[in-house]
Amino acid sequence: MKTIETVAEMMSLAKSWRREGKTVGLVPTMGYLHQGHLSLAAAARLDCDIVVMSIFVNPTQFGPNEDYEAYPRDLGHDQALAEGAGVDYLFAPQPADMYPKGYSTFVNVEGVTDYLCGAKRPGHFRGVATVVSKLFHIVQPEKAYFGQKDGQQVAVLRRMVRDLNMPVEIIARPIVREADGVALSSRNVYLTEEQRQQAVVLSQGLAKARELFVQGERNGNVLKKAVTDTIQTAPLANIDYVQLVDGDTMAPIQQITGTAMLAVAVYFGETRLIDNTLLEVESE
Ligand code: AMP
Repeated sequence: MKTIETVAEMMSLAKSWRREGKTVGLVPTMGYLHQGHLSLAAAARLDCDIVVMSIFVNPTQFGPNEDYEAYPRDLGHDQALAEGAGVDYLFAPQPADMYPKGYSTFVNVEGVTDYLCGAKRPGHFRGVATVVSKLFHIVQPEKAYFGQKDGQQVAVLRRMVRDLNMPVEIIARPIVREADGVALSSRNVYLTEEQRQQAVVLSQGLAKARELFVQGERNGNVLKKAVTDTIQTAPLANIDYVQLVDGDTMAPIQQITGTAMLAVAVYFGETRLIDNTLLEVESE
């Protein structure tokens, strides 16, 4: 595995792969890798000739009071894990190379960003859509792999790729969880032992709602209440949102008729955790 540290070198490699007709898969990450990230690399490995993983803590997707500075970083460890997962090239550019002096172009995906984390973290998806667009131009992948863990991110990027005719297939992969159900996240390292123990209420609440859904429950309020009641059993949990939304538009819905996403964001102290589950009614 090779680590590429400049945009220029990455672009020239991508150009040569394109000439050679190689299929390229891209796995965008912010590093501090875990099995969730590695599951995306494994999927790319099966589909593509060349697997590129980017590691870039993207400053434009963090709000002014968020954890950009504190976000965990460990390139050496990431290199070992990525290599083990079959990544061919690790692309780890510097912020000043991605956003040089005078940088002023941003991608705004409207509508689908009005809800959930889009509403709670103004500017977040503008930063995500911008950096992912840049990565698509730099690496020129046929396929790009994202985790369903960030369900709204998948919906936003699918919309962006459709709207801007980007020749990239967005592939969403399932959420990878710890044995107790907690979704893997680089931010889990912020949790105290007690918070980590109580964080299980997110997935437990979603699992309860899913059970009700499987039994035939389609009403949003009933499903959301099952999640909320479970989360509230954890004294250290502060709910940011519990929402049932349409799987494509991310707009809140009352009743499930097609594909819905039941999504939660919960604070433990300063740490904000998200999780979700897709609830699909088969059309007849
Ligand atoms: P991040 O480094 O947090 O920006 O995540 C990079 C990619 O990994 C995103 O597409 C995430 O959705 C995905 N990802 C993060 N955590 C998980 C997880 N537990 N399971 C599956 N994918 C994940």
